[in-house]
Amino acid sequence: MSQTTNPQVVIIGAGPAGLLLAYQLVSNGVPVRVLERHPDFEREFRGEFLQPAVLATLEQFGILPLLVERKLAFPDVERRLFVGKTRRVMVPGGKERGSLISQAGLLGVLHELCGRFPHYRLDFGTTALQTIRENGRVVALKTRREGTEGRVDGDLFVDCSGRNSGLRKDVGLQTESNPIPADVVWLRFDFSDAPEALPESLDVHMFGKGVVAVFHRTTRSRLQVAYSAPGDLGGLRKNLPELRRQLLPTVPETLRPHLEAKLDENTETQFLRVVVDRLERWHVPGLLFLGDAAHTMSPSGGQGLNLALRDSIVAANHLLDALRAGQPLDERVFQKIQDERRPEADQIQAMQTRVHRMVMAPLFVEHLMFTVLGLVLKLSKKASQGGQGLAQVDMRYGIPVAQLPR
Ligand SMILES: Cc1cc2nc3c(=O)[nH]c(=O)nc-3n(C[C@H](O)[C@H](O)[C@H](O)COP(=O)(O)OP(=O)(O)OC[C@H]3O[C@@H](n4cnc5c(N)ncnc54)[C@H](O)[C@@H]3O)c2cc1C
Repeated sequence: MSQTTNPQVVIIGAGPAGLLLAYQLVSNGVPVRVLERHPDFEREFRGEFLQPAVLATLEQFGILPLLVERKLAFPDVERRLFVGKTRRVMVPGGKERGSLISQAGLLGVLHELCGRFPHYRLDFGTTALQTIRENGRVVALKTRREGTEGRVDGDLFVDCSGRNSGLRKDVGLQTESNPIPADVVWLRFDFSDAPEALPESLDVHMFGKGVVAVFHRTTRSRLQVAYSAPGDLGGLRKNLPELRRQLLPTVPETLRPHLEAKLDENTETQFLRVVVDRLERWHVPGLLFLGDAAHTMSPSGGQGLNLALRDSIVAANHLLDALRAGQPLDERVFQKIQDERRPEADQIQAMQTRVHRMVMAPLFVEHLMFTVLGLVLKLSKKASQGGQGLAQVDMRYGIPVAQLPR
Protein backbone atom coordinates (compact mmCIF):
# COMPACT_ATOMS: atom_id res chain seq x y z
CA MET A 1 0.00 0.00 0.00
CA SER A 2 1.58 3.26 -1.03
CA GLN A 3 1.51 6.04 1.51
CA THR A 4 0.78 8.74 -1.02
CA THR A 5 -2.57 7.15 -1.92
CA ASN A 6 -3.57 6.98 1.72
CA PRO A 7 -5.58 9.69 3.46
CA GLN A 8 -4.22 11.71 6.37
CA VAL A 9 -5.99 10.50 9.51
CA VAL A 10 -6.20 12.80 12.54
CA ILE A 11 -6.96 11.14 15.87
CA ILE A 12 -8.09 13.28 18.79
CA GLY A 13 -6.85 11.77 22.09
CA ALA A 14 -3.85 9.57 22.82
CA GLY A 15 -5.75 7.19 25.09
CA PRO A 16 -6.02 3.43 24.55
CA ALA A 17 -8.59 3.78 21.73
CA GLY A 18 -6.62 6.48 19.91
CA LEU A 19 -3.19 4.87 20.15
CA LEU A 20 -4.26 1.31 19.30
CA LEU A 21 -6.01 2.70 16.21
CA ALA A 22 -2.90 4.71 15.36
CA TYR A 23 -0.73 1.59 15.72
CA GLN A 24 -2.84 -0.43 13.32
CA LEU A 25 -3.12 2.36 10.75
CA VAL A 26 0.51 3.49 10.70
CA SER A 27 1.82 -0.08 10.60
CA ASN A 28 -0.34 -0.55 7.49
CA GLY A 29 1.04 2.53 5.77
CA VAL A 30 -1.62 5.12 6.68
CA PRO A 31 -0.33 8.52 7.87
CA VAL A 32 -1.67 9.39 11.31
CA ARG A 33 -1.41 12.53 13.41
CA VAL A 34 -2.56 12.28 17.04
CA LEU A 35 -3.52 15.32 19.12
CA GLU A 36 -3.28 14.94 22.90
CA ARG A 37 -4.13 17.74 25.30
CA HIS A 38 -1.88 16.40 28.10
CA PRO A 39 1.88 16.99 28.01
CA ASP A 40 2.58 13.24 28.49
CA PHE A 41 0.89 9.89 29.22
CA GLU A 42 0.82 10.42 32.99
CA ARG A 43 -2.84 11.32 32.94
CA GLU A 44 -5.07 10.95 36.00
CA PHE A 45 -4.50 7.41 37.28
CA ARG A 46 -7.16 4.85 36.53
CA GLY A 47 -8.22 1.29 37.23
CA GLU A 48 -5.96 -0.99 35.25
CA PHE A 49 -7.84 -4.23 34.83
CA LEU A 50 -7.93 -5.48 31.27
CA GLN A 51 -10.40 -8.24 30.48
CA PRO A 52 -9.50 -11.46 28.67
CA ALA A 53 -11.53 -10.30 25.63
CA VAL A 54 -8.71 -8.13 24.38
CA LEU A 55 -5.71 -9.80 25.99
CA ALA A 56 -5.48 -12.60 23.46
CA THR A 57 -5.03 -10.02 20.68
CA LEU A 58 -2.42 -8.05 22.61
CA GLU A 59 -0.64 -11.33 23.32
CA GLN A 60 -0.82 -12.52 19.71
CA PHE A 61 0.74 -9.33 18.35
CA GLY A 62 3.48 -9.21 20.96
CA ILE A 63 2.25 -6.12 22.82
CA LEU A 64 1.37 -7.88 26.09
CA PRO A 65 4.69 -9.78 26.26
CA LEU A 66 6.51 -6.48 25.78
CA LEU A 67 4.54 -4.91 28.64
CA VAL A 68 5.23 -7.90 30.91
CA GLU A 69 8.92 -7.87 30.01
CA ARG A 70 9.10 -4.20 30.99
CA LYS A 71 7.19 -4.85 34.23
CA LEU A 72 4.30 -2.67 33.06
CA ALA A 73 1.72 -5.46 33.29
CA PHE A 74 0.81 -8.27 35.65
CA PRO A 75 -0.64 -11.10 33.55
CA ASP A 76 -3.16 -13.68 34.70
CA VAL A 77 -4.84 -11.79 37.54
CA GLU A 78 -8.15 -13.01 38.91
CA ARG A 79 -11.03 -10.58 39.58
CA ARG A 80 -12.82 -11.74 42.73
CA LEU A 81 -16.13 -10.54 44.13
CA PHE A 82 -17.10 -10.50 47.82
CA VAL A 83 -20.24 -9.52 49.69
CA GLY A 84 -18.83 -7.89 52.80
CA LYS A 85 -15.20 -8.62 53.57
CA THR A 86 -15.14 -12.40 53.27
CA ARG A 87 -18.24 -13.95 51.61
CA ARG A 88 -17.18 -14.72 48.08
CA VAL A 89 -19.76 -14.75 45.25
CA MET A 90 -19.41 -15.51 41.55
CA VAL A 91 -18.44 -12.62 39.28
CA PRO A 92 -21.50 -11.91 37.03
CA GLY A 93 -19.35 -12.45 33.96
CA GLY A 94 -18.07 -15.76 35.42
CA LYS A 95 -14.58 -16.60 36.62
CA GLU A 96 -12.31 -13.96 35.15
CA ARG A 97 -8.59 -13.83 34.75
CA GLY A 98 -7.37 -10.64 33.14
CA SER A 99 -4.26 -8.52 33.40
CA LEU A 100 -3.41 -5.41 35.36
CA ILE A 101 -1.81 -3.05 32.88
CA SER A 102 -0.33 0.35 33.56
CA GLN A 103 -2.28 2.70 31.29
CA ALA A 104 0.67 5.07 30.98
CA GLY A 105 2.86 2.04 30.22
CA LEU A 106 0.53 0.73 27.51
CA LEU A 107 0.28 4.15 25.89
CA GLY A 108 4.04 4.67 26.05
CA VAL A 109 4.68 1.33 24.34
CA LEU A 110 2.09 1.95 21.59
CA HIS A 111 3.55 5.43 20.98
CA GLU A 112 7.06 3.97 20.77
CA LEU A 113 5.93 1.32 18.25
CA CYS A 114 4.08 3.90 16.14
CA GLY A 115 7.18 6.09 16.25
CA ARG A 116 9.05 3.54 14.14
CA PHE A 117 7.10 4.86 11.13
CA PRO A 118 7.91 8.23 9.58
CA HIS A 119 4.26 8.89 8.79
CA TYR A 120 3.28 8.96 12.50
CA ARG A 121 3.15 12.14 14.54
CA LEU A 122 1.85 12.85 18.05
CA ASP A 123 1.37 16.41 19.25
CA PHE A 124 1.28 16.55 23.06
CA GLY A 125 -0.19 19.61 24.74
CA THR A 126 -2.58 20.16 21.85
CA THR A 127 -6.32 20.43 22.48
CA ALA A 128 -8.93 20.03 19.76
CA LEU A 129 -11.41 22.83 20.37
CA GLN A 130 -13.96 22.48 17.59
CA THR A 131 -14.51 21.20 14.10
CA ILE A 132 -14.23 23.21 10.90
CA ARG A 133 -16.71 22.02 8.29
CA GLU A 134 -17.00 22.56 4.56
CA ASN A 135 -20.15 21.47 2.74
CA GLY A 136 -21.27 19.62 5.88
CA ARG A 137 -18.05 17.60 6.18
CA VAL A 138 -15.43 17.95 8.90
CA VAL A 139 -12.24 19.01 7.09
CA ALA A 140 -10.16 20.46 9.93
CA LEU A 141 -10.00 21.17 13.63
CA LYS A 142 -9.49 24.38 15.51
CA THR A 143 -6.83 23.60 18.13
CA ARG A 144 -5.00 25.27 21.01
CA ARG A 145 -1.38 24.69 21.95
CA GLU A 146 0.45 26.71 24.58
CA GLY A 147 -2.26 29.38 24.47
CA THR A 148 -2.07 29.76 20.70
CA GLU A 149 -4.89 28.74 18.42
CA GLY A 150 -4.16 26.77 15.29
CA ARG A 151 -5.75 24.60 12.63
CA VAL A 152 -5.13 20.95 11.84
CA ASP A 153 -6.32 19.66 8.46
CA GLY A 154 -6.95 16.04 7.58
CA ASP A 155 -8.93 13.69 5.37
CA LEU A 156 -10.51 11.72 8.20
CA PHE A 157 -10.95 12.60 11.90
CA VAL A 158 -11.46 10.07 14.68
CA ASP A 159 -12.53 11.39 18.07
CA CYS A 160 -11.02 9.17 20.78
CA SER A 161 -11.02 11.97 23.36
CA GLY A 162 -12.85 9.95 26.00
CA ARG A 163 -15.61 10.97 28.40
CA ASN A 164 -16.79 14.59 28.10
CA SER A 165 -15.84 14.78 24.43
CA GLY A 166 -16.53 18.39 23.48
CA LEU A 167 -16.82 17.49 19.80
CA ARG A 168 -20.05 15.54 20.40
CA LYS A 169 -21.97 18.77 21.03
CA ASP A 170 -19.96 20.72 18.48
CA VAL A 171 -21.27 18.53 15.66
CA GLY A 172 -24.76 18.28 17.18
CA LEU A 173 -24.90 14.58 18.06
CA GLN A 174 -27.48 13.38 20.60
CA THR A 175 -26.37 11.60 23.79
CA GLU A 176 -28.45 9.17 25.84
CA SER A 177 -27.42 8.46 29.43
CA ASN A 178 -28.30 6.18 32.35
CA PRO A 179 -28.31 7.80 35.79
CA ILE A 180 -25.77 6.17 38.14
CA PRO A 181 -26.36 6.68 41.88
CA ALA A 182 -22.76 6.54 43.21
CA ASP A 183 -19.44 8.11 42.25
CA VAL A 184 -15.90 6.94 43.06
CA VAL A 185 -12.89 8.20 45.01
CA TRP A 186 -9.65 6.59 43.75
CA LEU A 187 -6.65 6.39 46.03
CA ARG A 188 -3.11 5.22 45.38
CA PHE A 189 -0.63 4.11 48.05
CA ASP A 190 3.08 3.45 47.91
CA PHE A 191 3.77 -0.09 49.14
CA SER A 192 7.46 -0.20 48.31
CA ASP A 193 8.08 -0.77 52.04
CA ALA A 194 5.72 -3.79 52.11
CA PRO A 195 5.35 -5.22 48.59
CA GLU A 196 4.59 -8.67 50.00
CA ALA A 197 1.30 -7.28 51.39
CA LEU A 198 -0.03 -6.41 47.94
CA PRO A 199 -2.89 -8.64 46.76
CA GLU A 200 -2.32 -11.01 43.82
CA SER A 201 -5.94 -10.66 42.69
CA LEU A 202 -8.26 -7.71 42.04
CA ASP A 203 -10.79 -7.83 44.86
CA VAL A 204 -14.19 -6.14 44.82
CA HIS A 205 -15.99 -5.91 48.20
CA MET A 206 -19.65 -4.89 48.31
CA PHE A 207 -21.23 -3.70 51.56
CA GLY A 208 -24.86 -2.99 50.58
CA LYS A 209 -26.63 0.35 49.90
CA GLY A 210 -24.17 1.32 47.22
CA VAL A 211 -20.92 0.97 49.19
CA VAL A 212 -18.21 -0.80 47.18
CA ALA A 213 -14.44 -0.92 47.66
CA VAL A 214 -11.98 -2.32 45.09
CA PHE A 215 -8.34 -3.18 45.81
CA HIS A 216 -5.60 -4.02 43.34
CA ARG A 217 -1.90 -3.68 43.03
CA THR A 218 -0.28 -1.66 40.29
CA THR A 219 3.17 -1.05 38.87
CA ARG A 220 6.01 0.26 41.05
CA SER A 221 4.67 -1.61 44.14
CA ARG A 222 1.61 0.53 44.60
CA LEU A 223 -1.92 -0.27 45.72
CA GLN A 224 -4.96 1.30 44.09
CA VAL A 225 -8.24 1.55 45.94
CA ALA A 226 -11.56 2.62 44.49
CA TYR A 227 -14.19 3.57 47.06
CA SER A 228 -17.72 4.07 45.79
CA ALA A 229 -20.77 5.19 47.77
CA PRO A 230 -23.82 7.42 47.27
CA GLY A 231 -23.42 11.06 48.36
CA ASP A 232 -20.84 13.77 47.83
CA LEU A 233 -17.64 11.84 47.13
CA GLY A 234 -15.96 14.94 45.73
CA GLY A 235 -16.37 16.43 49.22
CA LEU A 236 -15.38 13.15 50.93
CA ARG A 237 -12.09 13.13 49.03
CA LYS A 238 -11.14 16.40 50.73
CA ASN A 239 -12.35 15.43 54.21
CA LEU A 240 -9.62 13.13 55.57
CA PRO A 241 -11.23 12.20 58.93
CA GLU A 242 -14.51 11.30 57.23
CA LEU A 243 -12.70 9.43 54.42
CA ARG A 244 -10.83 7.37 57.02
CA ARG A 245 -14.07 6.74 58.93
CA GLN A 246 -15.85 5.44 55.83
CA LEU A 247 -13.05 3.68 53.99
CA LEU A 248 -11.02 1.87 56.65
CA PRO A 249 -13.82 -0.51 57.79
CA THR A 250 -14.08 -1.78 54.19
CA VAL A 251 -10.38 -2.71 53.96
CA PRO A 252 -9.49 -6.44 54.13
CA GLU A 253 -7.61 -7.40 57.30
CA THR A 254 -4.31 -8.04 55.51
CA LEU A 255 -4.22 -4.51 54.13
CA ARG A 256 -5.87 -2.61 56.96
CA PRO A 257 -2.87 -1.87 59.21
CA HIS A 258 -0.98 -0.57 56.17
CA LEU A 259 -3.79 1.73 55.06
CA GLU A 260 -4.40 2.93 58.60
CA ALA A 261 -0.79 4.06 58.65
CA LYS A 262 -0.61 5.36 55.08
CA LEU A 263 -3.93 7.17 54.52
CA ASP A 264 -3.13 10.82 55.22
CA GLU A 265 -3.21 14.22 53.52
CA ASN A 266 -0.36 13.17 51.20
CA THR A 267 -2.25 10.19 49.76
CA GLU A 268 -2.83 10.53 46.03
CA THR A 269 -6.59 10.75 45.47
CA GLN A 270 -8.88 11.41 42.60
CA PHE A 271 -12.62 11.86 42.14
CA LEU A 272 -14.48 10.12 39.32
CA ARG A 273 -18.05 11.06 38.45
CA VAL A 274 -19.48 7.80 37.17
CA VAL A 275 -21.17 8.20 33.81
CA VAL A 276 -22.82 5.69 31.52
CA ASP A 277 -23.81 7.32 28.25
CA ARG A 278 -23.76 6.72 24.54
CA LEU A 279 -24.12 8.53 21.26
CA GLU A 280 -27.13 7.51 19.20
CA ARG A 281 -25.01 7.92 16.12
CA TRP A 282 -21.22 7.55 16.21
CA HIS A 283 -20.39 9.69 13.19
CA VAL A 284 -20.96 12.70 10.99
CA PRO A 285 -19.34 13.23 7.58
CA GLY A 286 -15.57 13.19 8.07
CA LEU A 287 -15.64 12.41 11.82
CA LEU A 288 -16.04 9.10 13.69
CA PHE A 289 -16.30 8.64 17.48
CA LEU A 290 -14.78 5.63 19.27
CA GLY A 291 -14.19 4.42 22.83
CA ASP A 292 -15.50 6.48 25.72
CA ALA A 293 -16.18 9.37 23.32
CA ALA A 294 -18.84 7.18 21.68
CA HIS A 295 -20.03 5.38 24.83
CA THR A 296 -18.71 6.44 28.23
CA MET A 297 -18.41 3.38 30.46
CA SER A 298 -18.73 3.06 34.22
CA PRO A 299 -15.65 1.54 35.87
CA SER A 300 -17.92 -1.35 36.98
CA GLY A 301 -16.59 -4.69 35.76
CA GLY A 302 -13.45 -3.12 34.26
CA GLN A 303 -14.96 -2.83 30.79
CA GLY A 304 -13.99 0.67 29.62
CA LEU A 305 -10.51 -0.17 28.41
CA ASN A 306 -11.69 -3.39 26.90
CA LEU A 307 -14.41 -1.76 24.82
CA ALA A 308 -12.21 1.15 23.76
CA LEU A 309 -9.53 -1.21 22.45
CA ARG A 310 -12.08 -3.49 20.75
CA ASP A 311 -13.67 -0.45 19.04
CA SER A 312 -10.30 0.46 17.58
CA ILE A 313 -9.62 -3.05 16.32
CA VAL A 314 -12.96 -3.12 14.50
CA ALA A 315 -12.54 0.43 13.19
CA ALA A 316 -9.12 -0.38 11.75
CA ASN A 317 -10.52 -3.52 10.09
CA HIS A 318 -13.22 -1.56 8.26
CA LEU A 319 -11.09 1.48 7.42
CA LEU A 320 -8.29 -0.67 5.99
CA ASP A 321 -10.78 -2.92 4.14
CA ALA A 322 -12.23 0.17 2.46
CA LEU A 323 -8.80 1.62 1.62
CA ARG A 324 -7.61 -1.66 0.13
CA ALA A 325 -10.77 -1.89 -1.96
CA GLY A 326 -10.23 1.70 -3.16
CA GLN A 327 -13.47 2.84 -1.51
CA PRO A 328 -13.97 6.25 0.12
CA LEU A 329 -13.82 6.47 3.93
CA ASP A 330 -17.34 7.80 4.14
CA GLU A 331 -20.34 7.36 6.39
CA ARG A 332 -21.10 3.91 4.97
CA VAL A 333 -17.82 2.68 6.43
CA PHE A 334 -18.44 4.53 9.71
CA GLN A 335 -21.91 2.98 9.95
CA LYS A 336 -20.44 -0.52 9.51
CA ILE A 337 -18.13 0.19 12.44
CA GLN A 338 -21.02 1.44 14.58
CA ASP A 339 -23.22 -1.52 13.58
CA GLU A 340 -20.53 -3.98 14.62
CA ARG A 341 -19.62 -2.30 17.90
CA ARG A 342 -22.76 -0.70 19.25
CA PRO A 343 -24.62 -3.90 20.28
CA GLU A 344 -21.77 -4.97 22.57
CA ALA A 345 -21.39 -1.47 24.05
CA ASP A 346 -25.17 -1.24 24.64
CA GLN A 347 -25.36 -4.67 26.30
CA ILE A 348 -22.39 -4.06 28.55
CA GLN A 349 -23.71 -0.66 29.57
CA ALA A 350 -27.10 -2.28 30.37
CA MET A 351 -25.22 -4.88 32.44
CA GLN A 352 -23.28 -2.14 34.28
CA THR A 353 -26.49 -0.24 35.00
CA ARG A 354 -28.12 -3.43 36.43
CA VAL A 355 -25.07 -4.10 38.60
CA HIS A 356 -25.16 -0.50 39.90
CA ARG A 357 -28.84 -1.05 40.85
CA MET A 358 -28.01 -4.38 42.54
CA VAL A 359 -25.28 -2.87 44.70
CA MET A 360 -27.76 -0.24 45.95
CA ALA A 361 -29.78 -2.98 47.70
CA PRO A 362 -29.34 -3.74 51.44
CA LEU A 363 -26.53 -6.21 52.14
CA PHE A 364 -28.57 -9.43 52.48
CA VAL A 365 -30.60 -8.67 49.30
CA GLU A 366 -27.38 -7.85 47.47
CA HIS A 367 -25.88 -11.16 48.60
CA LEU A 368 -28.97 -13.06 47.43
CA MET A 369 -29.06 -11.30 44.05
CA PHE A 370 -25.38 -11.89 43.28
CA THR A 371 -25.65 -15.55 44.34
CA VAL A 372 -28.72 -16.13 42.13
CA LEU A 373 -27.24 -14.19 39.20
CA GLY A 374 -24.02 -16.20 39.41
CA LEU A 375 -25.96 -19.48 39.36
CA VAL A 376 -28.25 -18.42 36.50
CA LEU A 377 -25.30 -17.33 34.38
CA LYS A 378 -23.46 -20.53 35.19
CA LEU A 379 -26.45 -22.72 34.26
CA SER A 380 -27.16 -20.71 31.10
CA LYS A 381 -23.48 -21.14 30.14
CA LYS A 382 -23.13 -17.36 29.85
CA ALA A 383 -20.73 -17.41 32.78
CA SER A 384 -17.67 -16.27 30.87
CA GLN A 385 -19.30 -13.87 28.44
CA GLY A 386 -18.76 -10.49 30.12
CA GLY A 387 -15.01 -10.79 30.28
CA GLN A 388 -14.65 -12.60 26.98
CA GLY A 389 -16.67 -9.97 25.12
CA LEU A 390 -20.08 -10.44 23.58
CA ALA A 391 -18.91 -10.40 19.97
CA GLN A 392 -16.04 -11.89 18.01
CA VAL A 393 -13.35 -9.25 17.41
CA ASP A 394 -10.22 -10.10 15.42
CA MET A 395 -7.39 -7.74 14.53
CA ARG A 396 -7.27 -8.51 10.81
CA TYR A 397 -4.52 -6.06 9.95
CA GLY A 398 -2.36 -6.47 13.02
CA ILE A 399 1.38 -6.41 12.38
CA PRO A 400 3.25 -8.27 15.14
CA VAL A 401 5.73 -6.18 17.09
CA ALA A 402 8.58 -8.47 15.96
CA GLN A 403 7.88 -7.55 12.32
CA LEU A 404 7.91 -3.78 12.81
CA PRO A 405 10.88 -1.81 11.50
CA ARG A 406 13.55 -1.24 14.14
C1 LIG B 1 -10.51 6.96 37.47
C2 LIG B 1 -10.88 5.94 36.38
C3 LIG B 1 -10.75 4.56 36.63
C4 LIG B 1 -11.06 3.61 35.65
N1 LIG B 1 -10.88 2.28 35.87
C5 LIG B 1 -11.01 1.39 34.86
C6 LIG B 1 -10.67 -0.01 34.97
O1 LIG B 1 -10.22 -0.49 36.01
N2 LIG B 1 -10.81 -0.82 33.89
C7 LIG B 1 -11.30 -0.35 32.73
O2 LIG B 1 -11.43 -1.11 31.77
N3 LIG B 1 -11.65 0.95 32.59
C8 LIG B 1 -11.50 1.82 33.61
N4 LIG B 1 -11.80 3.13 33.45
C9 LIG B 1 -12.33 3.56 32.17
C10 LIG B 1 -11.22 3.56 31.13
O3 LIG B 1 -10.09 4.26 31.62
C11 LIG B 1 -11.79 4.22 29.89
O4 LIG B 1 -13.00 3.58 29.54
C12 LIG B 1 -10.80 4.10 28.77
O5 LIG B 1 -9.59 4.72 29.13
C13 LIG B 1 -11.39 4.73 27.53
O6 LIG B 1 -10.38 4.87 26.58
P1 LIG B 1 -10.45 6.00 25.49
O7 LIG B 1 -9.20 5.87 24.71
O8 LIG B 1 -11.76 5.95 24.82
O9 LIG B 1 -10.48 7.37 26.31
P2 LIG B 1 -9.43 7.94 27.36
O10 LIG B 1 -8.61 6.88 27.96
O11 LIG B 1 -10.22 8.81 28.27
O12 LIG B 1 -8.44 8.82 26.48
C14 LIG B 1 -8.86 10.04 25.94
C15 LIG B 1 -7.64 10.90 25.71
O13 LIG B 1 -8.05 12.06 24.99
C16 LIG B 1 -7.43 13.22 25.55
N5 LIG B 1 -8.30 14.37 25.23
C17 LIG B 1 -9.51 14.66 25.78
N6 LIG B 1 -10.04 15.74 25.19
C18 LIG B 1 -9.14 16.14 24.26
C19 LIG B 1 -9.14 17.20 23.32
N7 LIG B 1 -10.17 18.07 23.21
N8 LIG B 1 -8.06 17.33 22.52
C20 LIG B 1 -7.00 16.48 22.60
N9 LIG B 1 -6.97 15.45 23.49
C21 LIG B 1 -8.03 15.28 24.28
C22 LIG B 1 -7.35 12.90 27.03
O14 LIG B 1 -6.35 13.67 27.67
C23 LIG B 1 -7.02 11.41 27.00
O15 LIG B 1 -5.63 11.18 26.98
C24 LIG B 1 -11.53 4.08 34.41
C25 LIG B 1 -11.68 5.46 34.16
C26 LIG B 1 -11.34 6.38 35.12
C27 LIG B 1 -11.47 7.87 34.77
